[in-house]
Order: sequence, then structure tokens, then C-alpha cells
Amino acid sequence: MKLFILGSGTCVPTVERGPSGLALALGSHLLLFDGGSGSLRQMARLGLDFRQVDYLCLSHFHPDHVSDFVPFLFALNYTVDFTRSLPLHVIGPKGLRNFYDQLQGIFGHWIEAKTYPLSFQEAEESCLELVDFSIETLPMTHSSASLGFRVKAEGRSLVYSGDTDYCANIVRLGRNADLLILECSFPDERKKEGHLTPSLAGKIAREAFCQKLILTHFYPVFQGHDILAECRQEFSGEIILAEDGMKITV
Ligand SMILES: [Zn+2]
Ligand SMILES: [Zn+2]
Repeated sequence: MKLFILGSGTCVPTVERGPSGLALALGSHLLLFDGGSGSLRQMARLGLDFRQVDYLCLSHFHPDHVSDFVPFLFALNYTVDFTRSLPLHVIGPKGLRNFYDQLQGIFGHWIEAKTYPLSFQEAEESCLELVDFSIETLPMTHSSASLGFRVKAEGRSLVYSGDTDYCANIVRLGRNADLLILECSFPDERKKEGHLTPSLAGKIAREAFCQKLILTHFYPVFQGHDILAECRQEFSGEIILAEDGMKITV
């Protein structure tokens, strides 16, 4: 599996960090986890073809995680010299179908799947077993219905928290993961409900016994903070601070 960090930031734009988005190349599959604004363009920069995405996993419906969904569906219909037939599976929390229906109410046929099957799966605590990989989901603790994802393939496992506060489910989902990707929104002294800090992320990584930890979803308030030092107080394993455009082999 190969992971690409499309955006390591949040709703607050900065030069260095775009909103949340991760792409995962897995055999012949291309999975997209969230997609805030700029994610599609970042894929192009990294040489990833958005037309090959067959699974889109949305953690929750905050704009910094889903705002490229409309441009994505639109582009699938209007790319010159390309007719998509590959099915697109969208997995997200309860309310996913309604979310799409409302968008369709606004954008109409421009975002309808005209040439390919489009399916929606609303997940809570679930496991989707596919031929060559599986996607497990658990509800996370955030301000809206939200999910974390665990992908297992080729004997390896990757876990993505989406947005969450500390909760038993993220520890459970991240158990023994080869790669645990956790949101890390605010410094320890500026903790906000529904989000993690470096030391809370480190605590989760330690309790889950993950191999490697990636922190992402950094608000600009981190400027000048030693994020690694705060996280290392809790976790002694390998820690990577995500940057836009980063590629990681899992
Ligand atoms: Zn967010
Ligand atoms: Zn959020």
C-alpha cells in the first residue's frame, strides 16, 4: 500500500497545508479518504489519476473534509475523451445518502453518475470484506456523526481517525496497526472538545500498540510548537508529522 498526504491542514487555509485528504494506492485500487478543497489538484500534482478512484471514504460532513466531493463528481462526467464505467463506492457515516441527495438538489444532473454505477454505504460499526482488502469502520467522537477507518490489505493495516477526540473506539480501531494516522488539531494547552492534541494522540498510539504514528490535521496555532516533543511524552515509537505531498509506503 502506498499512502499520499493530499492535505495535512484544516478549514483554516495556509500556504503550507491544505484541508484534509489522503489517497491510498492498493493493488489496482485507488482509495480516497476525505477530500477537502484542493485535494483533486493535489492528486494531479502527485501523479494520481482521480478517475481511478473506486472507493471514497468520507469520515464526516465538515467542509474541510468533503468540499471536493462536488468537483470530483462533476469532473467524472466532463473529462474530455474519457467515459467512466468503473463503479464508485462511497462509504460514510449515517446521513451520507441525504448529504448526496441535498447536493444533487443544488447541482442537479451535473453531478449525477451518468456512465458508471454509484453506490452509497452508510456505516457505523461495520466491516466491508472485499476480494483483496477490507475496510472496517467505527464511530468516532466528534461534533457530528463521524467515522474512523481501518484498511487491511497485503497483510498490512492502516488506520485513519478522521476527526475525533480521545475515545475507546480509536484505540480499538488502531490496535496493532502498522500505520495509525491521527488528527492532531491543537496544542496540549489549547485543547478543544472533539479534537486531539499531540499528547492525546501519543496516548492513543501507545495504548493501541501501533507500529508507526502519523499526525495530521494541524491548525495554524501550532506555529512555533514542538509537536513531536509533546507527542513523545506518551509514545516512544516512530512519529511522522504529515506534510502536504508526502508519500509513505505501508
Ligand atoms: Zn476537520
Ligand atoms: Zn470535523
